[in-house]
Amino acid sequence: MAGRSLKIAAAAACAGLVLPWLAASPAGASPAGASPAGTGGCSAGAHTLAPPGSHLYPETGNGGYTSLHTLVHLVYDAGANTFMPGNGVVLTDRATQCLTSFSLDFERQSANTDAGPDMTVGSVTVNGDPAGFSFVQPTYPGDPKGQDDPNPAAHEASQTNPVGGPDSNPLPPACSPELPDTSTPADSLDGTQCPANKLVITPSAPIMSGATFTVTVNYTGRPGVHNDGDGTTEGWFRASDGGFVTTEPVASEDWMPLNDYPSAKPTYDFSDTVNAGLTVVANGELVSVQQQPASQEFPGGSVTWNWHAGMPVASYLVENSIGNYSLTSQVVNGIRFYQAQDLSIPQGQRKKNLAIMNMQPDITAFESQFNGPFPFASDGIIIGTPNASFDEEMEGMIAFAGGTIDTDTLYHENMHQWWGDNVAEGDYRMTFFKEGLATLGEFFYQARLAEDAAGGPSTSAGQAAFEASLVDQFNQVYGSDKGFWTTAPSNPIPHNLFSGSNTYNRPGAAYIALRQILGPARFDAALQQLQRTYGGSSISEPQFEAVFAQWLPVHGACQQRLSQFFSQWFDTAYPAGGGANRPMITGPGLDGPGFYGSDGTCA
Ligand SMILES: [Zn+2]
Repeated sequence: MAGRSLKIAAAAACAGLVLPWLAASPAGASPAGASPAGTGGCSAGAHTLAPPGSHLYPETGNGGYTSLHTLVHLVYDAGANTFMPGNGVVLTDRATQCLTSFSLDFERQSANTDAGPDMTVGSVTVNGDPAGFSFVQPTYPGDPKGQDDPNPAAHEASQTNPVGGPDSNPLPPACSPELPDTSTPADSLDGTQCPANKLVITPSAPIMSGATFTVTVNYTGRPGVHNDGDGTTEGWFRASDGGFVTTEPVASEDWMPLNDYPSAKPTYDFSDTVNAGLTVVANGELVSVQQQPASQEFPGGSVTWNWHAGMPVASYLVENSIGNYSLTSQVVNGIRFYQAQDLSIPQGQRKKNLAIMNMQPDITAFESQFNGPFPFASDGIIIGTPNASFDEEMEGMIAFAGGTIDTDTLYHENMHQWWGDNVAEGDYRMTFFKEGLATLGEFFYQARLAEDAAGGPSTSAGQAAFEASLVDQFNQVYGSDKGFWTTAPSNPIPHNLFSGSNTYNRPGAAYIALRQILGPARFDAALQQLQRTYGGSSISEPQFEAVFAQWLPVHGACQQRLSQFFSQWFDTAYPAGGGANRPMITGPGLDGPGFYGSDGTCA
C-alpha cells in the first residue's frame, strides 16, 4: 500500500522511501467510494469514546471505527521547530458501522500561544480520495440532541458534572478545562466554551461497516503542549535541538491527529525525516536510517529514521522525540534495550544517568517475577532536557525529563510496561489501576533493598525483610490523615487525576493488602492472568476486580468481603481526617481490622 497510503504532498525528502511492512494491502481493504446499498443505516461516528456523564476528558476518542495501525510520517525542521510540507499521518481503521463521517482529535491551536501548538491541516484523503474536513467543538457524551446540538451550553468545559459555572449550566461537560497554570483555581474555567478540536472527516461516499480504510492527514506548522486540567502541560516540549514528547493524558493530539483515547491502541510505524545529524527516538524497534542529500526543505541534508512498533500502543504512550541524542542498544534475555540521552546533558550527569539506565534489564527481570514475561520485544529509556511536568512510561521507550533519571522512578515506569502499556486503562477513571501497580513497583523496590540488606533473596532473613518492608509501607500509607482519603481513586476530577494520594499511594497500598489477602503466589498468579487475558488491550474496573476474586483462597462470604474491599479502597470518598474515615477492610498482618475472621473465614 506504500504508494497510495503515502500520497502526501510531494516532498523531496520522502522520495525513495521504502516501507516494506506497508507493501501489502490490509486484509479486507475496501475500495474507495464503494457505496453501500443506499445510505439508510449510515450515520456519523460518535465524536467521543467517553461514557455519558464523564467529567474526565469527555472530549476525547472517536466512535464508529477501530484504530488498527498508524504511520507517523513527520518532516520536521528542528531549527524552526516546524513540521514542513510533506508532514502527515496515515491512519488505518476498520469501520464498526456504516459511516457518513467520522472524527479525530487534533489541537491545532491553543490558548497557550507561547508553547502551545500552531498547526494547519492542508488536506485529508480517505483511501486516497480527497475528503472534506472541518473542526467542531465536542458535545457532552450522550447528548440526546446529537453531537451538533445548537445549544451553546452543550459545548462547555468543566471539572465536574454538571458544568455549573457562572450560568449554573445543568448539563454534563463537553471537555475538561485547559488551565493556564497550576496556581489557577480548579473551577476557574468551568462554563467556558470548549475549543474546536474535533477534526470531522467526510469521505466522498459512506464507508461500509466492517470495511478497512486509510485516512491520510497532511499538516504543517509548530507542534506544542496542551494546557491540562491540573494546570501542568504535556505534549511536544521544545528542546534547544528539537522536540521532546511526554503526553499523558491527552496531548498526543498537540502534535498529531489521532483517536485520542487510551483504549484505542493501533500498532505504529514511524518514518520521520529530520535535519541531517539528528536522531529520532520512537516506540518499538529501529528498522533503518537513510541519509538524503541537500534539498529545498533541508539545505544541509536530511535523514529518515524508520521505527516499527508491532505491539498496540495507547494514545498517550506514543513516543517520537527528535534531537541530538546518543542512541545505543543491546539484547539481554531476548529483549532489546535502547538507551538514548540528549548530548547537551553535561557529560558527568550522562555518566550518572547511564549507571541507572544500565539497571533496566535487571529491573525488568525482577518485575517479571510478579507480572510474568516482559510483554514486548524491546524496552528502552530516553532522557531529554526540557523540564516537562513529569516522566512517562512511553511504551517500550520510557521518557525521562529534565536531563536526569532516578532508580525509584525507573522501577515505577518500567512496571507500567505491563500495567498501563500492555494492559491499558479502559478509560481515564481507571488511571489509578495502573498508577497503583506502578507504585507497587516502587514498594517492591524498597522491599528488595531491605531484602538485600538482610542477606538477599535466597535467605530466609532476606525473604522476611522483604515481607516486613511491604507491611511497613502499607502501614505508613494507612496511617495517613487530613485530606488523604477524600477522593475516590476511581472518581477524581481532572485537577486531581495525578495527585499522589488518590491515584498513587492509596491504590498502591490496596495492592499490598490484596497480596496479603490472596497470598503472594496467588496474587502473582492473578497479575499474570490479567496479562494473558487483557494484554494488548484495555480493561475495566469490573473485569480487573473479577480476576482477583477468582484467586481468593477462601470463597463464599469472602467474595462479598472482597467486593466491599474494592469498594472501600477504590470507589469511596471519605470525610477528611483518617481514623474511622478510611477503608475498614485491610489484610492479614497489616494495621486495621484485617480481612479474615479468627477462624480464617469471612463468616
Ligand atoms: Zn506512573
